[in-house]
Amino acid sequence: MDQPDLTALIELKKVKAGFAVPFNHRQIGSDYLVTNDLGDWAFVTPQELQKLVYGTIQKEDPLYSRLAKRNFIAAELDIAAQAQRWRYKNQFLFYGPTLHAFVLTARCNFGCQYCHSSIVGMHRTDTDMSIEVAERAVDMAFQSTSPGITIEFQGGEPLANWDTLQHIVEYARQKNTLAGKALTFSLVSNLSLMTEERLDYLLDRKVQMCTSVDGPRELHNKHRLYRDADGFEVTTGWMKRINERYIELGLDPNLYRVEALPTVTRVMLERPRDLVDTYLELGCRAIFLRKLDPFGFAARTSKHLGYSMEQFISFYTEAVDYIIELNRQGVQVMERNAAIMLSKIIADYEPNYLDLRSPGGAVIGQLGYHPDGRIYSSDEGRFVSSMGDEAFCIGSVDNTYRELMTSAATRALVIAGTNLSQPDCVSCTYRPYCGQQPEYNYKTQGTINGRMRDSTWCRKHKYIFDYLATKLHEADERDLAMFDRWTTNRPQEHFLQADGS
Ligand code: SF4
Repeated sequence: MDQPDLTALIELKKVKAGFAVPFNHRQIGSDYLVTNDLGDWAFVTPQELQKLVYGTIQKEDPLYSRLAKRNFIAAELDIAAQAQRWRYKNQFLFYGPTLHAFVLTARCNFGCQYCHSSIVGMHRTDTDMSIEVAERAVDMAFQSTSPGITIEFQGGEPLANWDTLQHIVEYARQKNTLAGKALTFSLVSNLSLMTEERLDYLLDRKVQMCTSVDGPRELHNKHRLYRDADGFEVTTGWMKRINERYIELGLDPNLYRVEALPTVTRVMLERPRDLVDTYLELGCRAIFLRKLDPFGFAARTSKHLGYSMEQFISFYTEAVDYIIELNRQGVQVMERNAAIMLSKIIADYEPNYLDLRSPGGAVIGQLGYHPDGRIYSSDEGRFVSSMGDEAFCIGSVDNTYRELMTSAATRALVIAGTNLSQPDCVSCTYRPYCGQQPEYNYKTQGTINGRMRDSTWCRKHKYIFDYLATKLHEADERDLAMFDRWTTNRPQEHFLQADGS
C-alpha cells in the first residue's frame, strides 16, 4: 500500500514531542491506523492525527478520552498497570522452549513433492530414532524451564517408528510424575499407518492428532503421492474415525477434532473456494493458509509447484473473503493466520505462535530433535539441514541444556529474531503484532538478519495485516462479533497430562 506524503499534513516545527507516547502510523482507507509499543491501536482521521502529533487535543474533546483509553496520551499512562500488562503478554520471555519436535524417523510411505524433510524408503530402519536417543531427547525437553512442554512427533512418517513413539509417551509421563509440567503430546501424521489398536493407545494417552489435506481429492493425490491406495481416502477416512471416537469419549466436537493443514501449491491457487469447502466437508472449522516455504523438496520443486508472493496474496484474499462470506451466512469457520493476528490486535492476547512473536521461537521457543540426536533451532532449522547445511544445528543430546541455551548461535538467533533489531520493523505500524524467523531470512536472503524491505516474509505479513486492518476499519457489529469469535481462546484441556497420571 502506497503511503501518502505527510509533509502536507504535518509541519515538523509544530510537533509537540511528549504529548503522545511513541507510535507508528499507516494509512488505511481515508484514515490512519496508529499503534503504540504496548500493542494498542486506533483509527484516526488525518485531522485527528495532526492534533495528536501537535498535542492540541483538549481534555474535553471526545478524541482525548478515546486515545487516552488506548494509551496514546503520555500524561494519562498508568505505567505500573502497563508494565504488568506487558509482562503478561511477553511471559514467553521468562520460559524456555515449549515445543519439542521429535523426528522419529526419516522413513515415509508418502512421496509429497514439496516435503521439507529428507525422507527415505520404508526399508531404511537405520534412520529411526533409537530408544536411547529418544530417552535422552526427553531428558533434554524436561530440562526446559518452561512450565509447559509439548512433545510433537514428526517424520518422515512418525507412526513408522511406533515402538519409539510409545516408549517416549510412557517415559515422559513417568518423568512428569516428578516434574509436574503441563505436558502434552501431538502427532503429525499422514495417518496411513494408523490401526484401531494404535488409535486406542493414542486416545488413551491423550495424544493430539494432526494431519495434512491439500484440498479436494484430485489435488491432494496429485502432490501427496501414495502408491498403496487412494491417499485422500485413507487420510480423511481416519480423520472421520478419530472424530467419531472423540464424540464417543464425550468430548465436545466443537473443540475436539482432528486438525488438518493444507500446503498451497500452484494448482490450488485457482481453487481457494474448493479448498475451504473440502475442509468444511471434513468437519474442520479452521484452515491455516500456508504458502509453500523455501525449504527442502519445496525449494527443489518450486519450478513447477511454486508461485510468487503476489499470487499467494491474491489466493489468500479470495479464500478469506469467502470464509467471511460463509460466516455471514452462519457457517463457523476461520483462517488461522488471521485468527493469530487478530488475537494480538483485538483480543490483546499473545497466542505464542512461534513464527509471529518477537523474539521468534528459534531455540528459546522450540527445539527440533533429529533421529540421531542432533538438535536444531526449530523445524525450519532442521529443514535447512536436510538441504545439506548445518547452520542451525545448535548441538545434540550430548550437550547440556545450559550449553544449548547460551551458545553463540542461540544468542545470534535471538537477536536476529527480534523486530526491534530490524531497521524497517522499528518504524512499522504492525511491529507490536509481528515476528521474525531467522531461518527463513537465511534461506531466502542469505543472512539470519534479513532485509525486510526486500523480504517475502515481510511482504506476506504486511499484506495480511493490511487486509485485516482494512476489514476492521470497515467492520460493522456483526463482523466485529465474528472476529471476536475467531480470537476466542479455547484451551483443549483434555490433552493436558498435568502429572502423568
Ligand atoms: S516484518 Fe515487515 S510487517 Fe513485520 S514488523 Fe517488520 S516491517 Fe512490519
